[in-house]
Amino acid sequence: MTIGIEDFISRSIIDNINAGIIVIDLSYDILFCNSFVVKYSSIAKEEMLGKNLFDIFPYLPKAWLELKFRSVQILKSYSFVSWKQRSYLFKFRHNRPITGDVDYMYQDCTFLPVLDVNAQTNSICIIVQDMTDIAISQKMINEVLDANKMLKQLSYYDGLTNIYNRLYIENLLEKEFDKSSSTGSVLSVVMFDLDHFKRINDTYGHLAGDEVLRCIAKTVGSNIRQIDMFGRYGGEEFLLIMPDTHNNDCTLFCQQIRTSVQDMAINFDNIVIKVTLSMGVTRYRQGMKDYLQLIHEADIALYQSKKEGRNRVTTFSNG
Ligand code: GH3
Ligand code: MG
Ligand code: MG
Repeated sequence: MTIGIEDFISRSIIDNINAGIIVIDLSYDILFCNSFVVKYSSIAKEEMLGKNLFDIFPYLPKAWLELKFRSVQILKSYSFVSWKQRSYLFKFRHNRPITGDVDYMYQDCTFLPVLDVNAQTNSICIIVQDMTDIAISQKMINEVLDANKMLKQLSYYDGLTNIYNRLYIENLLEKEFDKSSSTGSVLSVVMFDLDHFKRINDTYGHLAGDEVLRCIAKTVGSNIRQIDMFGRYGGEEFLLIMPDTHNNDCTLFCQQIRTSVQDMAINFDNIVIKVTLSMGVTRYRQGMKDYLQLIHEADIALYQSKKEGRNRVTTFSNG
């Protein structure tokens, strides 16, 4: 039998195309496969033709695929499965150098109905596209995004308490200071410190001390508003920024925090630990030099609280 030019062209295209083509009849016997399938499955064409798809590729998800084939047959419309849903259907080799976590070629698979002259499905064409390069690039992008997220987490947050670290909370304070300087908006700032914290470490151990720090950060963090900013300024010193908040309201809020911490029982390793806080409050005023002045004033007020016996809130005053 001589092969016509049209037949020849279509065969040479089908055999050179960079995608796998498998045609099966409605009993899933293989009618045709192109060179791509032979090359990447390492199974000879003669071995495949006339055999059942599920005998040649016994690892295929049979029930799932049969359902797909049936819907393609009945609805006479194509169906598609992306590598994002299933990395692969066929265990085809891939061209990538050994990358460790890629066992087989990542694939997009399309199932097309092949219609006869009566517009009835008489066979199904499976097209397998190699998506390995795209999948690997996508994986690499995801890894970079994850690493960026991790770096952000590391650069903004304190590892022990999971609230902002000193660098970041100072950064935020500088921004709030600039905002108040240009718009005259109200701003209150609080510095607080745990009382006799050294004793807690000395009595119950450093791990217990760590738990106390975590607990205080959590308690205060869960009581502030969305607009407030809270960070760990030093060992057992914390900085709280309260935008749009008058000094009196801020002091009242601090009294609430102080009493709730005073009444709190922190459990660690079957022991109950009690702590108190000393707090210093100040506010933005026109003509202030920079944000460091706010920290300095809050610190002076905090020192006053310590001097007057601890477990109290002091509001900074020029006098
Ligand atoms: P005061 O009431 O005057 O603030 O007394 P204090 O004991 O709280 O203050 P002092 O500055 O003498 O001691 C602070 C202690 O906080 C000493 C230090 O070991 C401890 N500390 C700092 N950072 C951490 C930490 O991350 N974990 C634990 N467990 N302890 C810490
Ligand atoms: Mg202290
Ligand atoms: Mg301190």
